[in-house]
Amino acid sequence: MARYHIETYGCTSNRGESRQIERRLRDAGHHRVDGVDEADVAILNTCTVVEKTERNMLRRAEELADETADLYVTGCMALAQGEAFVNAGVDADVLHWDEVPEAVTNGECPTTTPDAEPILDGVVGILPIARGCMSDCSYCITKHATGKIDSPSIEENVEKARALIHAGAKELRITGQDTGVYGWDDGERKLHRLLDRICDIEGDFRVRVGMANPKGVHGIREELASVFADNEELYDFLHAPVQSGSDDVLGDMRRQHQVSEYVEVVETFDDALPYWTLSTDFIVGFPTETDHDHAQSMALLRETRPEKINVTRFSKRPGTDAADMKGLGGTIKKERSSEMSEVKRELVREAYADMVGETREDVLVVEEGTGDSVKCRDSAYRQLIVRSASEYGLEPGDFVDLEVTANETMYAFAEPL
Ligand code: SF4
Repeated sequence: MARYHIETYGCTSNRGESRQIERRLRDAGHHRVDGVDEADVAILNTCTVVEKTERNMLRRAEELADETADLYVTGCMALAQGEAFVNAGVDADVLHWDEVPEAVTNGECPTTTPDAEPILDGVVGILPIARGCMSDCSYCITKHATGKIDSPSIEENVEKARALIHAGAKELRITGQDTGVYGWDDGERKLHRLLDRICDIEGDFRVRVGMANPKGVHGIREELASVFADNEELYDFLHAPVQSGSDDVLGDMRRQHQVSEYVEVVETFDDALPYWTLSTDFIVGFPTETDHDHAQSMALLRETRPEKINVTRFSKRPGTDAADMKGLGGTIKKERSSEMSEVKRELVREAYADMVGETREDVLVVEEGTGDSVKCRDSAYRQLIVRSASEYGLEPGDFVDLEVTANETMYAFAEPL
């Protein structure tokens, strides 16, 4: 749970991207503060129309990097000339817009407050199914706000889901600190049963399951994978943050899972689903992470080949046990983060490149994009952008068959069939 400061420069489309970032940060329980001096994290959403603007962006990035612990630079200049920030020695992570919320989250789970209620935002319905978790990660401050898992009944959550769908939700996002342990306080993990019931609700909709830690998912992996295989309403997408490829580091993080358990979850989903998206997170530069540990994380990344990956440089959060550990130097953290981010971009780009030329049926138009485009999600929650959407009469909430025509690193372009 971080306090963040955000600055946006340039056109309305850049402002739109900042609004998206802020929405996702809000859903994850983070708070905006006025002024960088009160913030844990600063975000600079850049513009690059003229040379003078570029100089201003570089200067502002240098100032923010000096004033805050963590700086994330995104936007047009970051994407087109990211090396300019590196060459200028700015201590920042240069990221695509889509990557910023996860980076700010710093490897922690989203915060669901005790009074969290469903939210309908456009055609997206956000449904917190529980609050709290069963873990005690040494780097986390979220758990101080949320405590142990507290799961409302399946019936209660199904009714909330039904209300969201009747109110116009086409994409339900199931959230919680750790959706994989839903029901554990009742003595039984029952995420799979809840999802089965939600998918029985009448209507055309999709369901995205939010963060589920490997430990919770491992014990129900077979049941969960078959619920995904049986219900087309569920995006075939699993966000299981492994955080490290080293069991020693996982132990120091108190993550409660081992690397082998994560790999078994991935293998089970691979067996059950022909086309799905594995999303995972890595924290690099944890205080006890050695070169060998980092090499193990890199090997795990290449072995399991997730299609969505969040890489976070470890950063101390006040009041956590990890904050008292002797940290690694900033240069080591930066080098490891850059190395992993490079492989991440390679893997994700390859996943999107493989889709070019293929068709996708019943793709949901989720929201408006920049200009006259719309953002859509296919059955595996891969992002497809359709340009000139008004020519095709496409609006959020529509389902459409698409042909994938080209790709960028984090998404692909598509045209209606
Ligand atoms: S699972 Fe770990 S990181 Fe997530 S909220 Fe619980 S203690 Fe924090």
